[in-house]
Amino acid sequence: MSDSVAQPAVRVLAQALFWEEAAGGKVRCTLCPHLCLVGENEEGLCRARGVRNGCMVGLTYARPVTIISDEIEKKPLFHFHPGTRALSLGCYGCNVLCTGCQNWQISHASARTETSRLPELTPAQAVAMARKHKLSGVAFTYNDPAVWIEYVHDVCAAFKEAGLYTAFITAGYLTEPALDYVGEVVDAFKFDLKGATAEQWARLTKVKDPTPAYESAVRAKERHGCHVEVVSNIVPGLNDDEASLQAMARWVREHLGPGTPWHVTRFMPDFELSYLPPTSIKTLERAVRIGKDAGLRFVYVGNVQGHAARHTVCPGCGRTVMRRGEPKVECSGVERGLCAACGEDLGLVEAED
Ligand code: SF4
Repeated sequence: MSDSVAQPAVRVLAQALFWEEAAGGKVRCTLCPHLCLVGENEEGLCRARGVRNGCMVGLTYARPVTIISDEIEKKPLFHFHPGTRALSLGCYGCNVLCTGCQNWQISHASARTETSRLPELTPAQAVAMARKHKLSGVAFTYNDPAVWIEYVHDVCAAFKEAGLYTAFITAGYLTEPALDYVGEVVDAFKFDLKGATAEQWARLTKVKDPTPAYESAVRAKERHGCHVEVVSNIVPGLNDDEASLQAMARWVREHLGPGTPWHVTRFMPDFELSYLPPTSIKTLERAVRIGKDAGLRFVYVGNVQGHAARHTVCPGCGRTVMRRGEPKVECSGVERGLCAACGEDLGLVEAED
């Protein structure tokens, strides 16, 4: 977006939340379960938080590297304010560090070397930008928003104050206190379910034990009342076997409920996984069938333009109630969040009239 904001003459590093002093003059970061032990003038694994003068600081507070207006369907969130656009913000660094990341130029970069040249975007400026461009909310995306949680919290609070929505696009790998801090101002939580086993997560990310990620998704829904949708990027040879797809679908149904949308997206070769082929359409269609067989009411294909499994079919009467073009969505079969024909609850979160 073209709005330019003035860069302050002196850049002040913001002292972070979620850390404690540790032995040997080091600092323990408690924002995510990596629990990095960080020395003076060093950064943690995410490269977005570091220690300066004995304190943990966020290196990216109010310094987004991506500022884009996007359809909410691109996150993807299909049952949350359909047809609206959100201010989409991301920063340098990431704590999940996916081996096939499509945004590796920012997520695997160091905030230390890259952030100083970026202009500031305060929470109030972000709201003003959204209003100016007639956007309905904000989405934190492109890297995992856990790593700049203080800014995410402040921006989300400002957006909610302004009557706009907030969305957190994440692998959920953060500690419970950190989740609770941001959960109170997040409306939608899109959870990246990377694989069916710890081994798959470890091959696809830097996460060795995904248990805290699963717990975050459930807690976001149950404790914080977030609207939750789940995405699984289906990677050839790494998480696309029948048993893994069944296990992921079962997990979504059993822990988040049958009405939770599950997006099975097409992997496109990138970064360290450039040697793999893209996911075949046949595999994605198999994943959709497996999801439906597991009892999920809404299973969508992602990253395949024009595929029929991008539309919403009413589980009550079988009518197509929402059609997703690229990028427009048409909701003529929906009335007040219900199927206009049979009254079935579609689990939609829509703007109040
Ligand atoms: S947020 Fe970053 S510094 Fe903190 S524990 Fe996680 S990876 Fe380490």
